[in-house]
Amino acid sequence: MAVARSLRRNSSVTWIVAGVVTIVLIFFLLSPSAPATSLTAHRRQQDAAEHSLSPPTKPFLKKAGSSSGKRTPPPVVRYNLNELNATASPAAAGERVLILTPMARFYREYWDNLLKLTYPHELISLGFILPKTKEGNAATAALQAAVAETQSGPVDNRFASVTILRQDFDSPLESQDEKERHKYENQKIRRQAMSRARNSLLFTTLGPATSWVLWLDADIIETPPTLIQDLARHDKPVIVPNCFQRYYNTTTKRMERRPYDFNSWQDSDTAQELAKNMGRDEILLEGYAELPTYRLLMAHMAAAEEDADADPHTEVQLDGVGGTALMVKAQVHRDGAMFPAFPFYHLVETEGFAKMARRLGYTCWGLPNYFVYHYNE
Ligand code: GDP
Ligand code: MN
Repeated sequence: MAVARSLRRNSSVTWIVAGVVTIVLIFFLLSPSAPATSLTAHRRQQDAAEHSLSPPTKPFLKKAGSSSGKRTPPPVVRYNLNELNATASPAAAGERVLILTPMARFYREYWDNLLKLTYPHELISLGFILPKTKEGNAATAALQAAVAETQSGPVDNRFASVTILRQDFDSPLESQDEKERHKYENQKIRRQAMSRARNSLLFTTLGPATSWVLWLDADIIETPPTLIQDLARHDKPVIVPNCFQRYYNTTTKRMERRPYDFNSWQDSDTAQELAKNMGRDEILLEGYAELPTYRLLMAHMAAAEEDADADPHTEVQLDGVGGTALMVKAQVHRDGAMFPAFPFYHLVETEGFAKMARRLGYTCWGLPNYFVYHYNE
């Protein structure tokens, strides 16, 4: 009897072990975060362009087994834009995201944060534009070193493709220091130059397979790693998180956070009145005491840092958006929404873009309790 019981116990232990192994195996096979290396490698190979010119936003180059050694002409690739989606679950649908960054300075923290994004890197293309200044040259060198390091590192970290552009016009400001940049009288020329930089970057890199464009400034040094999935989940044509800055509060002697970007707002009657009485080339600017607009700023809608009940997915509709981090369905850009370098309804750059998207029939949204952080100079 004793023997039989011990045998029975043994066999039940065996069954339990077998059960656990099966569950772990099923979990491993179904889990989206499981390193599905062979699947990824297969997708990479399938995706690779056969020619560096066709198409521009895919990884080049597929090793074509051309035995003659002759260069073959680029293949004709058909894209059915009707089948190109931007959905609430973009990773599952294999949607391509283009991250665009105008860059005057290179911050290692920006790059490290980019590397930590959990959206499959093989679905992400990167595009940069840098000014042709001394500072821009230094940033280009640092960026190229970072790109080389990442693209030759572990395969899962590598991005699908990387494009670096140098600006073909001069930077209007001598100095990139924060004080100088933010002077009221410098705003118009500076933001018009930024518009041109953003447009050059967008029109050069948007590919036929791009589903989403994520604008991400070079000095955004901290975001949730799930940034792309979190923003896409709202399924909005244009959506913007709240851009804050961490700083050391010398009074409380603690690290705290404060609003940084004031370009995401809901319009006010005061601003509308101001605009009505403006000359055709004048622009409205936000965040300057010289010109109070009484717009409702998303920066001021954020819940307190210690408010544990704040819902990061609270949505508000916006009339103006900032571009420090900005998620746009590629369709909106494809329809023609860009960054006006001229006063458009007395708005320029990202705020003008929001207006243009609106005029095209889209709505812009903000997440007051979802934060990204700007570098503190
Ligand atoms: P602010 O944070 O609103 O003061 O704006 P920034 O000066 O940080 O500029 C926004 C983004 O554009 C950042 O990523 C900068 O690195 C980048 N940037 C600033 N000036 C230029 C420029 O002249 N050319 C290009 N290509 N990028 C720029
Ligand atoms: Mn900045």
